[in-house]
Amino acid sequence: MSSPHPFHCQSCTRPLSDANAVCLHCEGQLQRETHAATLGKHRCPICDERFNRPVNELFPRGAKWYVPKQFKPTCPHCKGFLRDRANPRLSIKQVGGLLAATLLTYLLLPAEYRKYGLGILMVIYLVMLILQRERNLAPAERFAKVETLGKPPFV
Ligand SMILES: [Zn+2]
Ligand SMILES: [Zn+2]
Repeated sequence: MSSPHPFHCQSCTRPLSDANAVCLHCEGQLQRETHAATLGKHRCPICDERFNRPVNELFPRGAKWYVPKQFKPTCPHCKGFLRDRANPRLSIKQVGGLLAATLLTYLLLPAEYRKYGLGILMVIYLVMLILQRERNLAPAERFAKVETLGKPPFV
């Protein structure tokens, strides 16, 4: 019963030269993970750099004053716009649609039904937010690219 490698790494079971030897595989893995953690817990899907906090910037960038803008997270390295998958915000179009629906509720419903109409809109708003939220995301996967379908008009 003498195997050439009587000692094995406890975490990856690779053979070790002696009981006190450091497993190079696991050591390297640990160093990579520690390195990644010091760089930041989130990974940019555009440039692959890591960061802890995105920088909020007005989107679309450099748009004319009359274009509706909203703050979106950006990568601190490549300045690319990101979408926070764990904490989504409604797009300008969705917010506009909800505002229009709220206005219509006020204009079209008799006064005694308005509060029910507005209550239903609140529920729709919450459901829209919940549907966009993605659960069980690894911190590195939290931010996605902002899908831009061509150039927005009036920019
Ligand atoms: Zn190992
Ligand atoms: Zn980036």
